[in-house]
Amino acid sequence: MMIGLPRRRTRTSIALAATALTASLVLTACGGSSSAKGTDGKLNVVASFYPMEFLAQQIGKDHVSVTDLTAPGVEPHDLELTAKQVASVQKADAIIYLKGLQPTVDQAVDQASGKAKIDATAASPLVDHHLDEGTEGGGQHAKGPAGDPHIWLDPARYAAIAKSVGDEFAKADPSHAEDYKKNTDELLTKLTALDQDFKNGLKDVRTKTFVTSHAAFGYLADHYGLTQVAVNGVDPESEPTPARLAEVQKAAKDNGVTTIFFETLVSPKLADTVAKDLGLKTAVLDPLEGVKDPSKDDYLTVMKQNLANLQAALGAPASTPGGAPATTPAATS
Ligand SMILES: [Zn+2]
Repeated sequence: MMIGLPRRRTRTSIALAATALTASLVLTACGGSSSAKGTDGKLNVVASFYPMEFLAQQIGKDHVSVTDLTAPGVEPHDLELTAKQVASVQKADAIIYLKGLQPTVDQAVDQASGKAKIDATAASPLVDHHLDEGTEGGGQHAKGPAGDPHIWLDPARYAAIAKSVGDEFAKADPSHAEDYKKNTDELLTKLTALDQDFKNGLKDVRTKTFVTSHAAFGYLADHYGLTQVAVNGVDPESEPTPARLAEVQKAAKDNGVTTIFFETLVSPKLADTVAKDLGLKTAVLDPLEGVKDPSKDDYLTVMKQNLANLQAALGAPASTPGGAPATTPAATS
């Protein structure tokens, strides 16, 4: 069956409007004095979406003031910036973003001059992923304009980005370089431990194949020797065709898959409908494109929950760390 999904607004007209507004804002802002750092003495950092915000906060701590362009709970793909946000990019001392994920952010960054522009893809270049890697015949190509953008979901790649953020903060604010180095090292230690937990936890699983609604986990799959079969492409709101659903169902059957993963930001009703069509249970695999309650969860806690959910779905032995089952049966009505 076809799955009805809300269609997106077109991005072109918004992007053009943002460009026009940027031009006028730049002109009016020229009269004001702009020092190297914000009025509060902190490095004024703009982050494009949650994983970049988390790096800025963990590495900058008290020395930075961080603004996230993507509000909690908002889906970041194709984010549309307000004029105020475009202005905040212009005024920032440093901007952390992921080129290719959010075209209007890329455009605003291109127009900001003389800032520390920290592009995550410079530290960890993008590659393309297929919707069903490892399956004969390939299937649809899952890629953004510049490649699959979801590099932050591989802890090792995320660590490389963290390191570049630490280096750039030290350059932009040399008086606190030592603190940035120390904070970066602390975060790298945590990310290395997380990477090791994933390696250990996914070593002896019953099946290496997982099915997900959104092709966000290609880098994670590559790094831990798993195969991602995705119903949709990298854009989580694209619509699966009946033919695609049939392909996924076959891949699930061939590989002993019991569970289909959905992300938290998508309607659970859709998840249940697709799961019922495919005869699979549902569970959450969170692509960390946003965190709903940052006071409760962060990159590290969500990734640990992702590991536990993967272990449960892939049939990890009970003794491996974090293997709490987190699946729920599909709705039967
Ligand atoms: Zn995504």
